[in-house]
Amino acid sequence: MFLAAVMPEANAPLRVDEFGPPTLERGAALLRTLYSEVCGTDVHLHHGKLDVPFPIIPGHVSVGVVEQSGGDLRDIEGSTIKEGDVVTFLDVHETCNNCYYCLVARQPTKCPRRKVYGISYSANDGLLGGWAEAIWMKPGVKMIKLPAELTPETFIGGGCGLVTALHAVDMAEVRLGESVAVLGVGPVGQSIVAFASLSGAGEIIAIGAPQPRLDFARRMGATSTLGLDLHAEARLYAARTLTGGRGPDVVIEASGAPEAVRDALDLVRDGGRVIVCGQYTDNGSVEIHPHWQLNRKHVEIKGCWGSRYDHFHRAVALTARYGNQKPWRDMVSGRFTLGQANEALAAVENRTAIKAVITPNPSLV
Ligand SMILES: [Zn+2]
Ligand SMILES: [Zn+2]
Repeated sequence: MFLAAVMPEANAPLRVDEFGPPTLERGAALLRTLYSEVCGTDVHLHHGKLDVPFPIIPGHVSVGVVEQSGGDLRDIEGSTIKEGDVVTFLDVHETCNNCYYCLVARQPTKCPRRKVYGISYSANDGLLGGWAEAIWMKPGVKMIKLPAELTPETFIGGGCGLVTALHAVDMAEVRLGESVAVLGVGPVGQSIVAFASLSGAGEIIAIGAPQPRLDFARRMGATSTLGLDLHAEARLYAARTLTGGRGPDVVIEASGAPEAVRDALDLVRDGGRVIVCGQYTDNGSVEIHPHWQLNRKHVEIKGCWGSRYDHFHRAVALTARYGNQKPWRDMVSGRFTLGQANEALAAVENRTAIKAVITPNPSLV
């Protein structure tokens, strides 16, 4: 039997339940969990802001050791994944490659059949979330062995924010020397700062709160920071001063506050690009002025939803290569056991931890 933290319904405390082992069909595997992250999405799930099949075992991005496999397992390079390997896996599964969004629009993150570990699988279906002693890898789940130079702590420190950030920076098409403003300094914003700097951006302005997170953004590569204690006009003035009076070439919103989308449109230079990836749940609406903020400004604005295998694959490669330069590992500021899942959620909600992780098998980490 394996223990797992179960979120029985919205706004109800989590409890620890026992689960039997899955029957491993061909191509399946069982991971012994080392780390599973706690992110803002888990807080939103707990508040009932996403439509999910309660009860669920939360935890979408995780690292574990292959304990058992149902036959020959291989990664996309064809190399064998065997028992004892430390792996992570793409939480998105069952993208169908057989629908309009997959095949015609070529936007698989909008595939209606896709499922996500820890979010859209029910606990009644088994160990399909990371806040559990073991995780059932269904056949076809894309696993990646962590390269020797990548510690599990570094990868989980970035967590799902890495993958979202990479997708957003890709969409922004940051060019060498361009200025970038990042709104929001949570885990997604921190990784956007890191990837913008690795992309060769020039001025990188991190905007958010509280001050320790702005200080952390400097370690990630921000060249300037602006706090929310400044009012919006003062931030606008400061950002323009830093960018030749024009405003940043690229603004990426990763804060979750609807007003940040309006601010992004104000901040960006004429003809610049705005990416919105922080509005993952419905936090309300905001008024924008289409003439001044869009049309006359000649702005390009893109929404960024979910991520694909290629983002995940490159996120692993990038954290392996740059984990010594960018302090993803230090983002982990709270470690919790399964029995402390409620405290872990509270730590993320109250922002006492930039990144909290669950360690379902504390003796292994
Ligand atoms: Zn599809
Ligand atoms: Zn997440």
